[in-house]
This record gives sequence, C-alpha cells and structure tokens, in this order.
Amino acid sequence: MNIQDLIRPIVKALKPYSSARDEYQGNSDAMVFLDANENPFENGVNRYPDPQQRTVKSLLSKIKSIPQKNILLGNGSDEVLDLIYRAFCEPNQDNIITLPPTYGMYSVLANINAITIKSVQLNNSFQPKVDEILEISDANSKLLFLCSPNNPTGNSFEAKSIERLIKEFKGVVVIDEAYIDFSKEESWVRRLKEFPNLIVTQTLSKAYGMAGIRLGICYASEEIISVLNRIKPPYNVNELTQQKAITQLEQNELTQQQVAAILSERDVLVKQLDAIDFVSKIYPSDANFILVKVDDATKRYNQLIEKGIVVRNRTTQPGCENCLRFTVGTKDENEKLIKVMKTL
Ligand SMILES: *Cc1c(COP(=O)(O)O)cnc(C)c1O
Repeated sequence: MNIQDLIRPIVKALKPYSSARDEYQGNSDAMVFLDANENPFENGVNRYPDPQQRTVKSLLSKIKSIPQKNILLGNGSDEVLDLIYRAFCEPNQDNIITLPPTYGMYSVLANINAITIKSVQLNNSFQPKVDEILEISDANSKLLFLCSPNNPTGNSFEAKSIERLIKEFKGVVVIDEAYIDFSKEESWVRRLKEFPNLIVTQTLSKAYGMAGIRLGICYASEEIISVLNRIKPPYNVNELTQQKAITQLEQNELTQQQVAAILSERDVLVKQLDAIDFVSKIYPSDANFILVKVDDATKRYNQLIEKGIVVRNRTTQPGCENCLRFTVGTKDENEKLIKVMKTL
C-alpha cells in the first residue's frame, strides 16, 4: 500500500509554514532571542513554546518505547483526529467508517469536514463485523476508526479482527487507544513497523490524569507523522500544557499506582452493582468505566442526578438500550454511588 496515494493532493502540495522557533532550534540560555517579536521580560510564558514539544516527546518515547520521530502531539485527541481527517479526506468526496456504538467525535469531525459517514454496528458481543466492514468500504473510504478498548462499551476488540482489518482495509486504520493504559491487551503501537497504514492515538486525558491540559498523542510511521506536521498549527501545544505534561510524566510510577487503584476499585464496583436489583447486565470492561444495563436508564439517570451523582446515559446509542455508563471514581465516590443506588 502506498500512503502517498491516500493523502489529499492539496496537502501533498503544501509547504509547511516555518515559524521563528522552527528555524532556530538551539536551546542555549546564552542566546539572545530577537526573532519572534515576543515581550522580552521573563514571566515563564513570554516565549513561544517548542513547536515540536521535544521534551514531552522524549519522555513519552521512553515510557512507550517508541522513537520520537513516530510521535505527533496535539491539543487533545480531538485535534489529532481532526488533523488526520484533513490529511486524508477530501470534503464532499471521501467517506470514513465507524463502528457504533462508539466515541462520538469520529462522526462530529466527519460532519465538520464534509465527509460521509458509513457505519457498521458492532455485533452482539460488541466486536467488529469484519466481513461487512470490508464489503461496504470503497475506493473513497479513507479512514476506519477502531476504538479499542471501546467507549462506551468498555471491551477491547479481538486482535485477530483488528489485524485482518489493518491488512485488508484499503485506507488508513486509526486505532483509538484512549483507554489502553487500563487494559491487559498490548498496544498496537508495538506493531506500527509492520503496517504503513496504521495510526494509533492515545491521550493524557484518562489514565494519566490530565484531561485539563488537552494533550493528545498520535503514533504512526515517519511518513504519516511528517504529513500531519505539515498541516498542524505551529504552536498547537501551549507552554503550560508542555510544562505540566513533563512534570507528570516524570512521575510515571504515580500514574501506574493510580491505574492499579482504579482497576481494583472497578472490580469492587462490579460486584456491588451486581447486587442492585434493577441492574440486569454488567458488560466486561477493559477501561476505567463500566457499561451497565438497567430497567429504565432515563429514569435511573434522573434519579441519580437528583441525588447529586452524574453518570452518562447511553440509552440512545445503538445496542445500548437502557444502558448507563459509570466512570470508576475514588473509593468514597463509588461507595456513595452504591449507597444511593440501593435506595432507588
Ligand atoms: C476520552 C476519549 C478520548 C480523549 O480525547 P481528548 O481529546 O484527548 O481528551 C479519545 N478517544 C476516546 C474514545 C475517548 O473516550
């Protein structure tokens, strides 16, 4: 497969905008910077941030064991996904494939970018129907989104299905691994070298505890990363975000401890939810949330709100009738949830 054939002609023809900080890449404190029309009085953020976020990438590179040249960072996964659309999908011509019930942003971005959405609902076990997906894809199907572990169902897709889709789909396969740090499955980042049409996205918003700083991660071949770099806004990850990401990533053991605590709380929560009489099904989760079928999702959602507990009502999602999605909170928060549910 030739990736160049999938890139929009207009993107191939672009010359990247070269910012002041791109042209001078030195890092010496002794330098005098009179190149970017900044205010020279130091306050911690008076300089433009590193457009290539080299320190953040070097930490991620170590944690995830992947070279920096295979990493691109964005203002949340939302920006990363938007860049992928703009690199590969021609408005009013191309289409993408999503597998509902899944994360809503794939469709939102398709609509914003005037891209047709083709969808193939997951099967009863919330696994991709591989044959149907391959059948409905055509020469204009540029992106296939696989969210694994999937939001809102919580399960991971079978590796065999994912591998077949990467090998047989004629466009780019984007695996959204926002929840991979909670999962026992191996990240597909490990397989990037084998598949030129594979993009893996991750985020610091979930396991890493930094939803507020907006930092999304894209892992792909050097070829794809260089295309995305050509269209990203030069200073897309701000200085405060980079500083906070560095501080947190430097204490990665803390994140690992928190993930372990969340997973053990999830097991406790599953057992306790199982004992609630209006809960009819608890779906297996590989993430930090649990999808639960109840007797009447909208009624229970409203009752919980009245008691000051906000969960996500997923009842309108295909295959999720009467389902609520519970994020695993702290021990105290989960206990409060169960205590309230017992009174409903
Ligand atoms: C939460 C979530 C994200 C994270 O998006 P950010 O913009 O990085 O906060 C991405 N994908 C899925 C499936 C999610 O649930």
